Amino acid sequence: MPTYKAPLRDMKFLLNDVFDYPKHYASLKAGENATPDIVDAVLTECGKFCEEVLSPLYQSGDEEGCKLEDGDVTTPSGYKEAYQQYMMGGWQGLSAPEELGGQGLPASMGLLKQEMMGTANWPFSMYPGLSLGAMNTIQLHGSDEQKATYLVPLTEGRWGGTMCLTEPQCGTDLGQVKTKAEPQADGSYKVTGTKIFISSGDHDLTENIVHVVLARLPDAPKGTRGISLFIVPKFLPDASGGVGERNGVTCGSLEKKMGIKASATCVMNFDDAKGFLIGPENEGLNCMFTFMNTARIGTAIQGVGPAELSYQWALEYAKERRSMRALSGKKEPDQVADSLIHHADVRRMLLTQKAIAEGGRAMLYYSARLADHMVEGHLEGDDKKAETYDDKLGFLTPILKGFLTEMGYEAANLGVQVFGGHGYIREHGMEQIVRDTKIATLYEGTTGIQALDLLGRKVMLMTQGGAVREFTLRISNFARKHVTNKKLRPYAWELLKLAAQWNVLTVRLMLNARKDRDMISAAAHDFLMFSGYVTMAYMWARMAVVAADKLENGGEESEAFYEAKLATAEFYYDRLLPRAQAHATSMLSPTRNLMQLDAEHMAFTD
Ligand SMILES: Cc1cc2nc3c(=O)[nH]c(=O)nc-3n(C[C@H](O)[C@H](O)[C@H](O)COP(=O)(O)OP(=O)(O)OC[C@H]3O[C@@H](n4cnc5c(N)ncnc54)[C@H](O)[C@@H]3O)c2cc1C
Repeated sequence: MPTYKAPLRDMKFLLNDVFDYPKHYASLKAGENATPDIVDAVLTECGKFCEEVLSPLYQSGDEEGCKLEDGDVTTPSGYKEAYQQYMMGGWQGLSAPEELGGQGLPASMGLLKQEMMGTANWPFSMYPGLSLGAMNTIQLHGSDEQKATYLVPLTEGRWGGTMCLTEPQCGTDLGQVKTKAEPQADGSYKVTGTKIFISSGDHDLTENIVHVVLARLPDAPKGTRGISLFIVPKFLPDASGGVGERNGVTCGSLEKKMGIKASATCVMNFDDAKGFLIGPENEGLNCMFTFMNTARIGTAIQGVGPAELSYQWALEYAKERRSMRALSGKKEPDQVADSLIHHADVRRMLLTQKAIAEGGRAMLYYSARLADHMVEGHLEGDDKKAETYDDKLGFLTPILKGFLTEMGYEAANLGVQVFGGHGYIREHGMEQIVRDTKIATLYEGTTGIQALDLLGRKVMLMTQGGAVREFTLRISNFARKHVTNKKLRPYAWELLKLAAQWNVLTVRLMLNARKDRDMISAAAHDFLMFSGYVTMAYMWARMAVVAADKLENGGEESEAFYEAKLATAEFYYDRLLPRAQAHATSMLSPTRNLMQLDAEHMAFTD
């Protein structure tokens, strides 16, 4: 079975040449230490850890899964040792402030780390990933005492974290949360209820687990306005900040699920567990959403990762496996047959994977710059700056999360297809990537909910189309600069047309929605996918511009590397981007074709 190879050349091309991260880091306070040498060293070391430690555990972790015995969850063999190495390497605190024991590097460097770890072994990467969610929440909304108690052990990775939102009756509609929190005389709360599907709810990797829990105070208003946020540690911290008494929170069972089997997904029972309020009463959901944009970029990685991994393995296989002769004549006459890579249809699949992986990576790195500015605003207490970048990022996050995870799932499926029947057999690992990737379109807000967030909230309600106007202006300005360049003109023209079309579609949907409210839900998915294809087209054009320039003037990379970029850009524009037009047509079609059928008449099986 092949292993993961960190795509450092592609990462550096994007960081150094396309998005000029050296200049970006030089403009940030947290970027002071992110000199090109340090960035290089971090990428190389992290790549090594992912290739040598995490990747070999990917398949064995799936085979073995997690176990619940006598109330304690154990992770698959090798996970504990790998986590120790992760912790000792200081990886958890890479982007955390130095005063908390972190390395103080920019948030985007944490994303680069997450990308490599998540691609090598997504289920493993979920344990520290969830801890980051808890760290961010406490850092932004916790009291000074809570920060002093929890942030250092979380940053060091000695303690883990979870996000406990979902309950049996609700995942999307958190207004239905029932878990109760009763105030106690000492200022703490007794938390009682059941949470399901809790990632990293219990495990043997850390000495304590800090649950961040949504619950309802007595007499709280109904719905989302009556939800508060609590810290409920597995072990209560003792006076010296160490691990003290066991709290009333236990793992009731492990969910049996389709994929990510090495990630413990737990039913968590809170039974008069001692909890501590974070942030103001009844504003728990707002507090959760503050860091949602970064968390969702984190999940968007799960679109890029599987595309990359599945592509790496499918490419290797397509070069080795032989089947029939290429239609244009024998390519390897001294062999019994030509290898798969010579067949156009196999190339269609491979290049689709490549275009998604590299185009998706570019979307992530483009957005990670915005995240750096947003985090800097938060850390400096500059609310205006934080809000400005949160808005910019807020528009892109549903596109990243929704579009990239759908595309990642498509790429993973194509990986199975390249292997033919062997892709369906567990030994090769290709079907595992499909099973592991499907969850990305479901948690952290399903694709449908991302689409509603984009069209309904970010585009229509919050900005009346302004978010699309602002982003498309950026695209048009870029395209206009390159429209006279013979090589780049086709991309520039296409982008100018698409930018205009995106605005027209937005206005038409806003007008239609005034007459028919179902229009928003009916059009949202197509709008999200259209937005994703155009954003990725913008990224491919940006990569093409740099590649063309480097070919003419020379760059760090080989000519073949830049030529491959140009060839992939051409493939994307000619073969994947046309899908955007099908989405454009579909989103404007009347809601009648969805709503006219009576629910009773959906099937006639009785
Ligand atoms: C492996 C795994 C790990 C998870 N990890 C965690 C975790 O760590 N912490 C945590 O709190 N939760 C976690 N979850 C829960 C996950 O976030 C939810 O399952 C997810 O948010 C969807 O909620 P739901 O399952 O209740 O689906 P529902 O909300 O019931 O949705 C069902 C379908 O209806 C659609 N839908 C719902 N409402 C609307 C609407 N208003 N308009 C249009 N369509 C709608 C959805 O898009 C979806 O397609 C995890 C789930 C799994 C499976």
